[in-house]
Amino acid sequence: MTVTARTADLTGGRPVVPSRGVLRPLGLGEVRITGGFWAQRQQVNGRHTLDHHREWLDKLGWTGNFTAEAGQGSRERRGREFSDSEVYKLVEALSWESGRVADPVREAQLDELTAMIAGAQAPDGYLHTAFGRAGQRSRYEDLAWGHELYCAGHLLQAAVARARTGGGEALLDVARRVADHVCEEFGPDGRDAVCGHPEIEPALVELYRVTGERRYLDQAALFVDRRGRRSLPPHEFGWSYFSDDQPVREAKVLRGHAVRALYLAAGVIDVAVETGDDELLETVAAQFDRTLARRTYLTGGMGSRHLDEAFSDDFVLPADRAYSETCAGIAAIMVAWRLMLATGRERYADVIERILFNVVATAIGDDGRSFFYAHTLHQRTPTRILPTDVEQLGFGGGPRAPWFEVSCCLANLGRLLASLSTYVASVEGDTLRVHQFADAEIDTVLGDGRRVAVRMGTEYPDNGTVRLDVLVASGGPWTLALRLPAWAAGASVTVNGQAQPVAGDRVLLTREFAAGDVIVLELPMRPRFTRPDPRIDAVRGCVAVEQGPLVLCAESLGGELDLDSLRVDVDTAPADGDAVTVRGHTEDLPDEPWPYADAGPVGRRDPLAVPLVPYHRWARSGPSTMRIWLPTA
Ligand SMILES: [Zn+2]
Repeated sequence: MTVTARTADLTGGRPVVPSRGVLRPLGLGEVRITGGFWAQRQQVNGRHTLDHHREWLDKLGWTGNFTAEAGQGSRERRGREFSDSEVYKLVEALSWESGRVADPVREAQLDELTAMIAGAQAPDGYLHTAFGRAGQRSRYEDLAWGHELYCAGHLLQAAVARARTGGGEALLDVARRVADHVCEEFGPDGRDAVCGHPEIEPALVELYRVTGERRYLDQAALFVDRRGRRSLPPHEFGWSYFSDDQPVREAKVLRGHAVRALYLAAGVIDVAVETGDDELLETVAAQFDRTLARRTYLTGGMGSRHLDEAFSDDFVLPADRAYSETCAGIAAIMVAWRLMLATGRERYADVIERILFNVVATAIGDDGRSFFYAHTLHQRTPTRILPTDVEQLGFGGGPRAPWFEVSCCLANLGRLLASLSTYVASVEGDTLRVHQFADAEIDTVLGDGRRVAVRMGTEYPDNGTVRLDVLVASGGPWTLALRLPAWAAGASVTVNGQAQPVAGDRVLLTREFAAGDVIVLELPMRPRFTRPDPRIDAVRGCVAVEQGPLVLCAESLGGELDLDSLRVDVDTAPADGDAVTVRGHTEDLPDEPWPYADAGPVGRRDPLAVPLVPYHRWARSGPSTMRIWLPTA
């Protein structure tokens, strides 16, 4: 691929700001989500989730670790080694939220947290509340599990978000001192080592993008080159757990701990883009593409091994053992977005949409105060109702909970939802590209500096009609490009009522637009059967039903209908009425003393039509069983 230098330089309000790439990302000030599916979730996030997160940090003493460190109190440090990162991720989420909706209360919270964090920084720049003080372990004595550089990375990202949303330099100063310390300690003449949990890599590149300090980029590149030499200690999960089994440039696929592998991939893309290393960029793109083709659930979820929260072998994607951590979904969005900006390949926006509607929307509770850590695709016994004030110790599954002992996913949701509008559209030369469909206003400039503004209106994903009204079109022809999802065969587009040709992965409309022009995209939303690759043994002989971007599921409240006895008739297309339904039968199988025989058991069959619901709605109306993959009759 060819990465060309960009001309426009509109900084600010964006999580990722590459200095080169096919697409220019738009900031919070250029795209606003104004209504519908995602606006509602952004509001819940802003009004409830961020406060809920803060309440738990205070209650568990994770914020208190910073003040105790600063000598303002004395007590045992609380939480796991990575608990500092939850404070930093909250700061990042609050920063995007503050950039989205100006709010003096949020600003005050950010100032308070910034002062608290700054107060805990050591004179040499080091900042972590679990190491290096009296009675604590030494700095960097446990790089495999200590998460020191991981936490530093989240601090850097928080500072970048604060700087890009008009929050001044106070946190950025703290971040610079942390980054300088990391460069001294781990530079070419320093410790020849990497952190067990990647995260510092993309963070250092983004800090470089904000500050222009080249040594941060060099340090990130050094960490990327050092990965894969088995410098971390041996472990029962193997070096692949840390992506430390193979040099980045030699690997063919993402492997090991899913979030670690994906955060590293994001950092590798950032390094490749900033250093002009197109070969490295293609290498990581191929790794991600192969991961999508062989190691990803229908929902876009990644990671099928509970034991080590990891990718398994190719096509090992059991529905009832899906791990599919929320953070892995968000990390996959980070990777897909970076690849799309660098290459312009629209199919990565399909990936982002799939994860948004089927992992992100599924994860967060209606009230924004509970969430899924893992995402099974098949719940055999009814979920439980959890108390709203009790931390869950097991984080490998279960229903939405208010908090987990390891609670990484909630602030990840918070920072993504607060910055979500920046994933809606981008600019490529004189083309405005629309990647995601939502009620939104886009007001930006093209590559040549001309201002354009459009309003998008839609009830998507309930309805496939997307209308765009041109509000501002400053003279001369330009192009509006609308993504055509891979599932949208038969889509149509009109401009002021005139039908336009539709082909490929996006519609290109080039003309001298005028204010008042109306573009209407019609996406077919008929429910459809989806079949798995036969190499995915775990769901062979099953179908799923999708509708637009939504994966649907059968849900049985209280487990009343035995979903595991369901057989679906695939000769009858799914019906689309008040609810999508599939026809088939239940088979009441006899209990046998041994579940293997020369012929399978036969039971009484009762025909029925089963209503399906969007997967993101499951487990919201009470304890239930659920399955996405439905055995065929
Ligand atoms: Zn997580």
